[in-house]
Amino acid sequence: MAEKLESLNPATGDVVGVHTIDRVGDVDAAVARAREASTWWSELGFDGRKQVLDQWKGVLARRMHQLADLVHQETGKPHADAALEIGLSIDHLAWAAKNAEKVLGPHKVSAGLLMANQAAWVEYRPFGVIGVIGPWNYPVFTPMGSIAYALAAGNAVVYKPSEYTPGVGVWLAESLAEVVPDHPLLQTVIGYAETGSALCRAAIDKLAFTGSTATGKKVMAACAESLTPVLIEAGGKDALLVDEDADLPAAADAAIWGAFSNAGQTCAGVERVYVHERVYDEFLEEITKQAKGIHAGAHTGAHFGPMTMPAQVEVVRRHVNDALAKGARPLLGGAESVGERFVQPVVLTDVPPDSCAITEETFGPTMTVNKVRDMDEAVELANSTSYALGSTVFSRSRGPELARRIRSGMTAINSVVAFVGIPALPFGGVGDSGFGRIHGADGLKEFTYAKAIARQRVKPPMLLVSFSRTARHEAVFNQVISVLHGRASQLPKLRRHLR
Ligand code: NAD
Repeated sequence: MAEKLESLNPATGDVVGVHTIDRVGDVDAAVARAREASTWWSELGFDGRKQVLDQWKGVLARRMHQLADLVHQETGKPHADAALEIGLSIDHLAWAAKNAEKVLGPHKVSAGLLMANQAAWVEYRPFGVIGVIGPWNYPVFTPMGSIAYALAAGNAVVYKPSEYTPGVGVWLAESLAEVVPDHPLLQTVIGYAETGSALCRAAIDKLAFTGSTATGKKVMAACAESLTPVLIEAGGKDALLVDEDADLPAAADAAIWGAFSNAGQTCAGVERVYVHERVYDEFLEEITKQAKGIHAGAHTGAHFGPMTMPAQVEVVRRHVNDALAKGARPLLGGAESVGERFVQPVVLTDVPPDSCAITEETFGPTMTVNKVRDMDEAVELANSTSYALGSTVFSRSRGPELARRIRSGMTAINSVVAFVGIPALPFGGVGDSGFGRIHGADGLKEFTYAKAIARQRVKPPMLLVSFSRTARHEAVFNQVISVLHGRASQLPKLRRHLR
């Protein structure tokens, strides 16, 4: 008999759903079906695909609360937070469908003087079948960042949801099948690491992974066996910087949401806060005032739910205890805040730089707040991590300047995580946070390969790539290159430019 996987409600331990685990053969069969669907889908063209995706968008919007309920059951997050991630996913799907042709369709380029007899253009062709492996923390928004953009680019998708949220994955695939019952454009394969590993080794054309850095490395190694390209969206250790001229109540509000919402289980959540010494005490007062009453629970009115993955509770406990043992001061909560299923908010100040709470991804409702003498030090500390996913800057006068100096894929200025809700902006990291981009034009291109086409319009004045080439052609060519690129007069200009 096939083995089963039970998804559980993390707040109560109740069984939410029972799923059959997919093995290597099942994964290969799903990919083979996707291959057939991808031919039909790619031939449908941009307009046809947009019509289908717009219909799917409608289904998702009309049944949003049904899906939110399932997200709530499998992750424990409040219904309103589930609805928020679904709503944003729908907006991304709409953007991808609307903009696919503009971004990926043929773009003329100049053929240049040497090849003036040619017409030249580039267009972005779908790979075929994309494997997507997702996490549990935003079980709709995160995988849809790959799924929606891969589909809009003309690919079929085989998706392995997290073992903690399989029901949400199945729901998504079934909702698209309602619109396109005859072509399996989006299928799920269910299981643990083994199923994910089988998907990496199946006959897919690209693998989009979202999850931890450690698993990302395994995924990349498995895909390397067949030279399958990968997109890696991994963990983060995001910093929020507070300048001396910042709007402090707004900065505190953003830090609290960024650190505690979704029980801190956000890849681009706020884990470290660096505050200018001139406003440090005032900022701490704001945090204390605003964070009062923010709490975890399963009841209506709770600000966030349980830890979705039981094992993460021990990581959070270790980070809090390690920081306190090394001399950090608790401003809110402390070791006692870390319970069995729920973790109440913890704010630690003066946290030593070698604490795990500063160096490793905590992924819990905790925040470290440290004082800096100026914003140069804030930038230096923000950058002193191997992760580089998102970041936040609160500054009235220096926002863009500080944002550019932070090594991270995205920065929000004077608000928190705004970049995720703007479909035209690419999302992704640097360093241990991964590489490649979802969302926006870059996110569409990620699921395509660039196809360059040169079409001869008229015969060239001299044939350079032919054995009928003559010595005179060669001499003319050398002369043309010398005139075009060899003028010494350009050197002083270049030197001036480099100075
Ligand atoms: P995880 O790495 O444990 O699992 C992610 C997925 O990989 C799951 O579906 C899992 O079953 C699968 N998997 C596990 N081992 C595998 C293997 N050997 N081969 C193939 N697949 C395998 O991560 P998680 O706990 O589900 O998610 C939390 C992590 O995800 C955090 O680190 C968080 O920062 C990160 N995350 C990143 C982003 C982003 O966009 N950068 C978004 C959300 C979450």
